[in-house]
Amino acid sequence: MKRPFTRRSLLGRLAAATACLVVAPAVRAAKAAVKTVLVSTGAPKGYDPTQHKWLMVVDVNRCIGCGLCAEACKLENHVPEGPFYRTWIERYIIKKPEPGSGETHGEVLVDSPAGGMNGFHDVPVPADDILQSFFVPKLCNLCEHSPCVQVCPVGATFDAPDGAVLIDPKYCIGCGFCIQACPYGCRFMNPVTHTAEKCTLCYHRISRGLKPACVEICPTQARIFGDLKNPEPDDPIEAFVRNNKVQVLKPHLGTEPRVLYAGIDREVR
Ligand code: SF4
Ligand code: SF4
Repeated sequence: MKRPFTRRSLLGRLAAATACLVVAPAVRAAKAAVKTVLVSTGAPKGYDPTQHKWLMVVDVNRCIGCGLCAEACKLENHVPEGPFYRTWIERYIIKKPEPGSGETHGEVLVDSPAGGMNGFHDVPVPADDILQSFFVPKLCNLCEHSPCVQVCPVGATFDAPDGAVLIDPKYCIGCGFCIQACPYGCRFMNPVTHTAEKCTLCYHRISRGLKPACVEICPTQARIFGDLKNPEPDDPIEAFVRNNKVQVLKPHLGTEPRVLYAGIDREVR
């Protein structure tokens, strides 16, 4: 079931979730790890993670599949060469239904060559067979109830108070449980450090008042980044959520993502 988001409902759920977190044993461990936020994430000394609650909106209607965001992320975060991505672009091609089938659409093809970093140049289906096609940028979904945090046996991955889901590589033992637990496929094992890795929203940037690299470079403003606690007077998230229907990926899982999508088809997974 798709659930529309409003700032009020989001804040209400965040408040309820925060109350639950106070008693959750897993989060007690995580809170200890949060103390290391300033040293393990590259955040500057004066950054107070309790004063922010980050979120991102992805407007699928605006994404042109250029891949600049994925490329910028790799460079900014020193992601290893090869098939490792903190953010990537998926192309969805929905084929027309077979004549007489009675279906509303045909086969759904999803691909992401090189994480979409080089754009999408080849179309694997004749144009006449395509009912609809679009691009879906993917990244950490900033779950309020993060499965990856719940399964980490050593508290190496944790929910920061500002909503970022982070990993302290000093404590990561490389067991891979979090990679299996993430329902969005957002984690991978770094082949160099042999620790788990993921999108941090460019924590070293946002903690200095900058936007994540993917947001900064997007030429169409398909990615909108904001702070629920410190909205600007003309807060772009506020205006966007007010004027558009936004949804989350896999809402049935109850992970309560704080990455919201506008314009996604029901075929997106
Ligand atoms: S790979 Fe690292 S972060 Fe992931 S569950 Fe294992 S110890 Fe925790
Ligand atoms: S940079 Fe923007 S338009 Fe280009 S693929 Fe990424 S989200 Fe889409």
